[in-house]
Amino acid sequence: MVAPISVTILGSTGSIGQNTLDVIARHPSRFVVHTLTAHSRMDLLAKQAFDSKAAAVAVPTEAAAERFKTAWGSTLKRPVIRVGAQALVEVASDPASQAVMAAIVGSAGLPAALAAAQAGKRVLLANKEALVAAGSIFMAAVRDAGAELLPIDSEHNAIFQCLPHHDRASAPTGPAAGVRRLILTASGGPFRNQRWADLAQVSPEQACAHPNWSMGRKISVDSATMLNKGLEVIEAHHLFAMPPERISVVIHPQSVVHSMVEYADGSVLAQLGQPDMRTPIAYGLGFPERIESGVGMLELALAGRLDFAQPDLEQLPCLALSFQALQAGQGACIALNAANEVAVAAFLERRLAYTAIAEVIHATLDWQSGQPNTSLSSLDDIIALDERSRSAARRAATG
Ligand code: NDP
Ligand code: MG
Repeated sequence: MVAPISVTILGSTGSIGQNTLDVIARHPSRFVVHTLTAHSRMDLLAKQAFDSKAAAVAVPTEAAAERFKTAWGSTLKRPVIRVGAQALVEVASDPASQAVMAAIVGSAGLPAALAAAQAGKRVLLANKEALVAAGSIFMAAVRDAGAELLPIDSEHNAIFQCLPHHDRASAPTGPAAGVRRLILTASGGPFRNQRWADLAQVSPEQACAHPNWSMGRKISVDSATMLNKGLEVIEAHHLFAMPPERISVVIHPQSVVHSMVEYADGSVLAQLGQPDMRTPIAYGLGFPERIESGVGMLELALAGRLDFAQPDLEQLPCLALSFQALQAGQGACIALNAANEVAVAAFLERRLAYTAIAEVIHATLDWQSGQPNTSLSSLDDIIALDERSRSAARRAATG
């Protein structure tokens, strides 16, 4: 019998983390859970660690560790508790696990995701902000360490599935042979067909009510503004070494076609499925084999029709700003992502109007374009610019 694969989940209490545990629990002889990490939800972390028999957990502070111990309660042997930001980096590179699910939200997840790549793990990458901020060094780390990189974001997972395989679980240095274009689908979110100028009064609840997907709050807002699709274009650029002009976006409200690859001969390959993240997660966990995910049949006859439309960039300022940042370069992508994280957090706390998210990003990109060019070749360089961009974004949000 083959030994089970030991998996660490960074951000296990989130939407992707919970779905990952769901898939793993369906395959007790194939996977074991090594470490789970969480930021605030200690009760849920304790339950997850108990149910999955995790060997260790990582939490941000001593106070969180105390809450975890209280939540654990029982006299049964507790998992090892590791504390602090550095613990995240250590568990991501711990030789005891072979696969790491990077599912922390935001650039907070970057150091640990990078550490997993540098340690040569199978990295299941959901944390798109890590690639947006640090695509070049992340992909170089995957190559240099011989890590495996499986995209979990559903669009990128779809593209990965539609590409010729060879060694595509690694980091390519150029576009795959014969590929003309990558086509990312976007549902258009809850405000599709509405004019941006009419959305100033939108509440966090309305923005988070995605028509097809159930996700964490930050990515739900990103999906509504379509900044998410902008991050995904940048993500695709890095993951598949594809020039920006060969990546396009099409609105597809039903979220059945998860993305497509167009080849030189005119063939277009698409991956279809229900909008359920357990499919890409199971694909990443099982690759190159296919394993059960718990996702049911796709009844196309019930879907009835599949629609496609061109995005209107005039009405989607966050998507337009993302294209602008990708053209401008890595510094602008870091600023775009940092500004968006600040603006979305303020919107979710009802301190910022929905439409002001685009204004904050715009102002931060303007600020960044006036900054002297500095090197962005190390994690420290990237974190420094991320922090300065956050300050600029906070000034824009309160100014
Ligand atoms: P959630 O908000 O549901 O979960 C985020 C996870 O990260 C939680 O475990 C949270 O801990 C933890 N976390 C939050 N802040 C920090 C921090 N500062 N340091 C360490 N850990 C932290 O997000 P999702 O699961 O929706 O998304 C996770 C990532 O996957 C994002 O990058 C998102 O863009 C990407 N993704 C998500 C999809 C989805 O369907 N949800 C689809 C495609 C990509 P706690 O909850 O305990 O506070
Ligand atoms: Mg996606």
